[in-house]
Amino acid sequence: PARTRFAPSPTGNLHLGSIRTALFNYLLARATHGQFLLRIEDTDAKRTVPGAEERLYEDLTWAGLQWDEGPIVGGPYGPYRQSERLPFYKKHIENLLASGRAYRCFCSSERIDELNRRRHDKGLNLGYDRKCLHLSAEEAEERVHRGHQHVIRFRSPEEWPRYNDLVYGRSGHGAEKTKKLLVDEPVYEDTILIKSDGFPTYHWANVCDDHEMHITHVVRGSEWMASTPLHVALYESLGWMPPLFAHVPLLVDQNRQKLSKRNFDSDISSFREKGIFPEALVNFAALLGWSHTQKNDVLDLPQLEALFDLKITKGNTIVSFDKLQYLQIKHARRRVEAQGEHFEQMIRDVAVAVLDRYGAARVMQFLAKRSLHDVLASILQVGSLPYRTAVDFAAQCSIFFEPVPPTPQKLEEAGIDPAHLHYLRVAATTLCLVPESEWAEAVHHSQLRMLEQQVPDEAVGAAAKWKRDLYHYLRWALLGGERGPGIAVTLQILGRDTSVGKIQAANR
Ligand code: GLU
Repeated sequence: PARTRFAPSPTGNLHLGSIRTALFNYLLARATHGQFLLRIEDTDAKRTVPGAEERLYEDLTWAGLQWDEGPIVGGPYGPYRQSERLPFYKKHIENLLASGRAYRCFCSSERIDELNRRRHDKGLNLGYDRKCLHLSAEEAEERVHRGHQHVIRFRSPEEWPRYNDLVYGRSGHGAEKTKKLLVDEPVYEDTILIKSDGFPTYHWANVCDDHEMHITHVVRGSEWMASTPLHVALYESLGWMPPLFAHVPLLVDQNRQKLSKRNFDSDISSFREKGIFPEALVNFAALLGWSHTQKNDVLDLPQLEALFDLKITKGNTIVSFDKLQYLQIKHARRRVEAQGEHFEQMIRDVAVAVLDRYGAARVMQFLAKRSLHDVLASILQVGSLPYRTAVDFAAQCSIFFEPVPPTPQKLEEAGIDPAHLHYLRVAATTLCLVPESEWAEAVHHSQLRMLEQQVPDEAVGAAAKWKRDLYHYLRWALLGGERGPGIAVTLQILGRDTSVGKIQAANR
């Protein structure tokens, strides 16, 4: 069983790349009957965005990625927020200091900046010259007592260790040296573990926590790959067994540019607002770099849980949003087929998505008036309109939420023959004669068939024009001339009272 974790920093919204990382961790834990942990990496107070943590919980919950241990639910290795775990980092750093694998560095930031600037001029890597490594233990202690600002650095080993990545294979080509010999001074990659404010850096907190929380598999974005040799070195210097690492490839757009705010709004909240179903998004995210041997790509979370493994492709993953649209339609169909509660949920999703646009009250009235089944049947029937998202639906069927009055200009635009007008009013009135008890799509259908046939004398020889005018007139009367489903369905969805009212108003 794998113990995995998703370890976001609360610095912004969850985006497509991060939900994929969370998902892979979640799926690996489920597929192996292990545990999925959530840990908040908030040691950089300057970067923490208020409210981001709550949004994270919401987005993960929406996607169905329930964590077994973490904030809110707790667990045996808590707390699960790094800002509440400072004593752990302190305890372990004391050990590292005692063994000589870490040391205090009192160099001022001005000195470090100056060193870096000099090397930059020579086009050389940044690093530290180990000036403070040579301070005696007593001297360092004394300066701490006197309250001198300092950081704690890792005394890196001579070579970075190599490791086996579960996706990318063996790291590096040969063991890389941590000491870079420059013309006049050696430079060491002695990473800071504790900052001058006493807080741990990402590397230190991350390694301590993965150990303390008994994480077996670290699945994370490939942007962290460069840090992994350091992490492995930290585990080794503490005498700890490192977890297994699986780095997942970068997401890029069709032009092979890294997906970013600039080229695509991939925030989870924006997918939610568009009415994308969580199962469609999860399905989409799962296929970003992971491949399976099923015939069908349409998979929901339980199916993914059963199938998942670490068969992840290395190399950048090109994101195609057409695929998301495809999956959304497939999952919409599944919801309809599943009927029952899913079906109601779908209607509720539709309602929620249109609330802002059309006002809660009207939507609720609309939904309350008829059975959910009728409503959905009507929506899906809307001819050539493929139901994609709730917002799509709302945009194309706004008539059901917003009364659109028939305006005379629209009637003129439709190019209706003025000689037909009188007969069109009569025809429309005929539709009003159907009693409430018989008000149904099938009845309207046969009535419309009949009206099509009753070509007035004035239009003899022009049956096609009459039929065209008939539907234009009714669309104008009932839908204000706007797009929408067929007239028979429209009559049914609007109901008798509304339909009759609209026809009377139009005939006036
Ligand atoms: N806090 C890091 C992040 O925001 C976690 C990286 C990791 O998984 O080690 O992505």
